[in-house]
Amino acid sequence: SLSVTGVSVRFGPHSALSDVYLDVADAEVVAVLGPSGSGKSTLLRVIAGLQEPSSGRVFLDDVDVTRVPPHRRGLGLMFQDGALFPHRDVAGNIRFGNGSADVAALLELVGLPSVGARRVDTLSGGEQQRVALARALAPSPRLLMLDEPLGQLDRALRERLVVDLRRLFVRLGTTVLAVTHDQREAFALADRLVVMESGRIAQVGTPREVWERPASEFVASFLGFTN
Ligand code: ATP
Ligand code: MG
Repeated sequence: SLSVTGVSVRFGPHSALSDVYLDVADAEVVAVLGPSGSGKSTLLRVIAGLQEPSSGRVFLDDVDVTRVPPHRRGLGLMFQDGALFPHRDVAGNIRFGNGSADVAALLELVGLPSVGARRVDTLSGGEQQRVALARALAPSPRLLMLDEPLGQLDRALRERLVVDLRRLFVRLGTTVLAVTHDQREAFALADRLVVMESGRIAQVGTPREVWERPASEFVASFLGFTN
C-alpha cells in the first residue's frame, strides 16, 4: 500500500504540490488526472524518490521511504520518456537492471510472445510500449507507476491496450498509480480517480462518483471540456 501524507513541493515561489494526501490500497488501480502543470508528474516523482518533497512523507507498506533512494523503493516505473534502448534487443532491454527477469513470461503477460530477440527499433510504437511495460513489471514491483504510458499512441490502439492493461493488473493484483491526460482512459483503467488542480487534489473517488458528483466547478468543467 501507498500513503502520501502532507506532501508539498516548492520550486522557488512556485508550489508544484501543496499539502497532498493520498492513500492507495494493495491491488488498487488509481488514475491521476488534471490539466497540464497541475502536479501529476511531480507527485509520481516524489513517490518514486526522484523529487525530494519540501515537506511531507511517503510510506510504502507502512514504512517511511521519504529518504530511501529510488532503486530501493521496490517500484516499477514507466514514464513516457523512460525510453528503451533502441539498438538493443527486447530481452536485453527487459533484463537491464533486472538480471534475473523471466523475459519469456513477461512478454507473454503483455501479449508479445516471441519478440525477445528483435531489436527494439524494429517494433511498432504500441509494441514498444508493451515492452516498456514488461520491463516495469520485471522486478515484481509492489507499486507500478505509469506516467502517460500510452501517450504517443493513436486513440484506437490506446483503447485496445487499456483494456489489456486493466485485465493484466487485475490478474496480477498489481497496485498501480497511472497519470493520464485521457479521461476515457482513466475511467476504463481505474478503480479510483484523483483529479488534480494547481498542485492540490481537487477530488478523489470512483469514476462513477467523480462523474456523477463532481466536487467542484473545476472538476465538472475539467471533465466536461476534455474529450
Ligand atoms: P503535464 O500534464 O504537462 O505533464 P503535470 O501535471 O505533470 O503536467 P508537473 O510536471 O508535475 O505537471 O509540473 C507541475 C508544475 O511544477 C509545473 O508548473 C512545472 O512547471 C513545475 N515544475 C516541475 N518541475 C520543476 C522543476 N524542476 N523546477 C521548476 N518548476 C518545476
Ligand atoms: Mg506530466
